[in-house]
Amino acid sequence: MEWHSDIGPQYEGEVVRKEDLWIEFGGPKVARKFELCRLKSPEQIEHEKVEIIGKDINEMEEGGSYPIAIIVDVAGEQLDEDALPVLERRIHMFASYIEGWYHMNQRADTWIRVNKTAAKKGWTTLKEFGEILNFLYTSEMDIIEKIQTTLVTDPDLIEKLYPEAKAAYAARDQRVLTLHDEDVDTFYGCVLCQSFAPTHVSIISPDRIGNCGAINWFDGRAAAKIDPEGPIFAIPRGDLIDPTKGEYAGANQVERERSLGTYDRVYLYSAFEHPHTSCGCFEAIVFYIPEVDAFGIVHREFKGKTVIGETFSHMAGETSGGRQVEGRLGTGLEQIRSPKFIQADGGLHRMVWMPKEIKERYRETIEAKGLWDKIAIEEDVADVDQLLKWLDEHQHPWLMGQVELPT
Ligand code: SF4
Repeated sequence: MEWHSDIGPQYEGEVVRKEDLWIEFGGPKVARKFELCRLKSPEQIEHEKVEIIGKDINEMEEGGSYPIAIIVDVAGEQLDEDALPVLERRIHMFASYIEGWYHMNQRADTWIRVNKTAAKKGWTTLKEFGEILNFLYTSEMDIIEKIQTTLVTDPDLIEKLYPEAKAAYAARDQRVLTLHDEDVDTFYGCVLCQSFAPTHVSIISPDRIGNCGAINWFDGRAAAKIDPEGPIFAIPRGDLIDPTKGEYAGANQVERERSLGTYDRVYLYSAFEHPHTSCGCFEAIVFYIPEVDAFGIVHREFKGKTVIGETFSHMAGETSGGRQVEGRLGTGLEQIRSPKFIQADGGLHRMVWMPKEIKERYRETIEAKGLWDKIAIEEDVADVDQLLKWLDEHQHPWLMGQVELPT
């Protein structure tokens, strides 16, 4: 097969900036987009088929942002549901292998930018993108016996298909809630994002989903089994050095080995001292607010200014790149439901601000902790001065001195 761009790992890490943008799919300007991998029986799949539903590239305008659903259907005797999140996350890697293409994020946040050089090279159809995905999946993963890729750009159909994707993501997230770090002797590491953040390694434990929110402990286990030489690998948990901060000998060792020696310690349950590294794909950022000595959290989809006057993208610039930044923690949103979420710093009881959308999404968890009317949203306060007053009026337990930090 011949394509209009070269493909290979040498193009991973290639960024498409605004000035060089030709067209983009998904991303913040597009309301609905997603990527999903589904398990099918062999007879349900027409091997290597690529179907485009909706506008194709040759009908799109330069500079435009378009909705997309990337649906990869796979079949294979050794494949099971556990493998799907792992295969799905490879969309990030394979799309980034294409010269001139830049993939970010995951699940319902997917974002692809294509540069002007790709336009000059003659790209006119998404069919080639689907063919490249089919080719890379089958060449790199023997476990896939049949594959079919559907690329939907029709917004109405994407909207119709979205509940299926959302249900799949929720089922994956739910499964890990009953398992905890103390129940296992193996964690998993992921270095898939090192092409963009060379010192970043995600430590994935039952109580800590990967920063992108797309890979939980079960997914890590499945990935390490399917592709032992791949970017996701087992970490013997090792001695528990600090149960409050979540410091484990095994995680420290991997941090040392895989961060180019930049870091040698990592706390899984704290935003201070040795917080987890932040790549660039994180779903959300936990940020310290010094004026109230507490935290806020903001997710990628929130377009406004946070209570500290910064937007998500501004904050992301200061947080990303594979660094440990005290008081700034790139994280998967599911961490909110983890009992160990920044537990050393006071956990959810020290959270004072979040966008309404996050608050609604995690209503059950927030209500269970008695914090529903204690955490401010963008509609309640516009800045830190208002926040202080609001928290006082609402008797936030952290400000009332009712939260004791674990020792
Ligand atoms: S954010 Fe972490 S878990 Fe997710 S793909 Fe990147 S390195 Fe892996």
